[in-house]
Amino acid sequence: MEEIILKHPLVEHKVSILRKKDTSTKEFRELISELATMLCVEALKDAKLEDIEIETPITKTTGKILDEDNYAFVPILRAGMGMVDGVLKLIPNAKIGHIGLYRNEETLEPVEYYCKLPKNIENKTVIILDPMLATGGSGSAAIEMIKKRGVKHIKFLSIIAAPEGLEKIKKEHPDVEIYSAYKDSHLNDFGYIVPGLGDAGDRIFGTK
Ligand code: URA
Repeated sequence: MEEIILKHPLVEHKVSILRKKDTSTKEFRELISELATMLCVEALKDAKLEDIEIETPITKTTGKILDEDNYAFVPILRAGMGMVDGVLKLIPNAKIGHIGLYRNEETLEPVEYYCKLPKNIENKTVIILDPMLATGGSGSAAIEMIKKRGVKHIKFLSIIAAPEGLEKIKKEHPDVEIYSAYKDSHLNDFGYIVPGLGDAGDRIFGTK
């Protein structure tokens, strides 16, 4: 499955401000949230709807609604938290899970330290949130953890994706749809995305 990269002037505009090193914590958070909303709109393009009878002030008619209970968002700690309010604007009743991973210094492999997922997750479409898809190591591990719970429909939303991370996820999880606001050039020797925006977690939480 090919990755889907948002192509829209507003996305270009917002990503450019996001990248600037002088952008304030407040504005950075707001932009991450807004871009998460835009990604979620795109990711929900194939959402199944149910018919509903409604009465407008003028007449009775048939409308379509989404069963919000069919969706769960799962941010990868900690930067993924910055995308939660943006996606909840669209599906406020979705359930939220959390996945925490750290990197083993010797093997460089991601190791799980936290996983709390909603009950009946196997019946839901699960949308993983991580603003930076860099090596794809933690993204792929998070997908694996969710698949182990029997989930069949998984989408992955990232603001900035490196080609290396996209390739890894597509190779290891070809069934997962990946949505990104921007595909960047490459990873540097320290695992940062170039040109990127630096450490997304530090910039969202103001920890540096
Ligand atoms: N995580 C980040 O926050 N930034 C990068 O550039 C890569 C991974």
